Amino acid sequence: MRCPFCAHDDSQVKDSRPTEDATAIRRRRQCSSCGARFTTFERVQLREIVVVKSNDAAGLERREPFDRAKIEQSVTLACRKRGIDREKIERLVSGVQRQVETIGENEVPSRIIGELVMEGLRQLDSVAYIRFASVYRAFNEAKDFEEFAGTVRDVGVN
Ligand SMILES: [Zn+2]
Repeated sequence: MRCPFCAHDDSQVKDSRPTEDATAIRRRRQCSSCGARFTTFERVQLREIVVVKSNDAAGLERREPFDRAKIEQSVTLACRKRGIDREKIERLVSGVQRQVETIGENEVPSRIIGELVMEGLRQLDSVAYIRFASVYRAFNEAKDFEEFAGTVRDVGVN
C-alpha cells in the first residue's frame, strides 16, 4: 500500500483486526520509508472487483466485472454427470469468490481465478478437474468462461 504522505510504494501492516460489526478489517500500517502511520480498511466489495484478462499475443488487456454466475456455470459443466452434489459445487464457487475477495485488490487477473477454480476442482473430483484444467489451460487467458462452456460441450462427456 502506497504511503499517502511520501508516496513510497511499500508499507508494513502493524496491526490487523475486524471492525466492531465485523464487516471490515482495519489495518494499521506504517510507511517503511518515512515511518508515517495510517489506516486502511478491507471490505467485501464483490461487485466492484474487476477481472483482468490479458492477451499475451496482442499485449491487450480486457476488464470486466467479476461474475460469480460464470464461474458457477463452468464448474457445473466440468462436474457434469459426475454425480456431485449441487451443494458441493456451490461451496466450491463460494470458496473461489471468498478467496478472490480476500486478495484485497480491486482488479484480479483471470488467470488467478482459473487457478483457484482448478485447485477447488482438484480436491472435489479428479475427472472434473481434468476437464476444466485441460480446457482452461489451452485457453491461454485470452478466452473466458463462456467459451470454456462451449468447449466442454464439444469435448463431450460420456
Ligand atoms: Zn511515507
